[in-house]
Amino acid sequence: MVRLNEIRPNEVAVPVDFKTDAAIMFIGRIHTPWTDRLKCPRQGRLDGPVCEIEIFEPWHQALAGIETFERLEVLYWLHESRRDLVLQSPASDGKVRGTFALRSPVRPNPIGTSIAALVTVEKNVLKVRGLDCLDGTPLIDLKPDRMLFTPIAPPQPGDFEKG
Ligand code: SAM
Repeated sequence: MVRLNEIRPNEVAVPVDFKTDAAIMFIGRIHTPWTDRLKCPRQGRLDGPVCEIEIFEPWHQALAGIETFERLEVLYWLHESRRDLVLQSPASDGKVRGTFALRSPVRPNPIGTSIAALVTVEKNVLKVRGLDCLDGTPLIDLKPDRMLFTPIAPPQPGDFEKG
């Protein structure tokens, strides 16, 4: 059940000290058809609507070569999420699970990830399918889908030994 910012039966919130250990800068903004969390899909689908990822300056050049990948991993900041729940009840039925056992948008660092199908790249705007976030959601990063990415260096001896 999609939440706004309520606390449900048996959920547990903790006091949070919002000091930062690292700073994140938003590198763009995501434009989607959804302006209401209650109407967003819970997970994106590759046959979902075309959405736009706008990249801010000075990061336009960082898109060089991205058009060669058919799928991208998109990382975004679920900016309307509360960040203080350790136990959550996704179905709002009194049954709870730990935040790290869920893909809920409510987490200490509300990072969302989706694998998106790349439709087009036009200057600093990527059209993709497969997102599930609100219109205006800040973009953190883009990476080629790891399943499509061939590392430049071949495997080295010891790469697969237990650390
Ligand atoms: N696919 C991502 C993941 O697995 O990391 C996010 C999954 S999360 C379940 C998706 C839900 O987050 C949406 O259905 C919507 O209710 C909520 N949501 C989307 N954009 C948001 C935003 N900018 N701030 C807060 N909540 C958001």
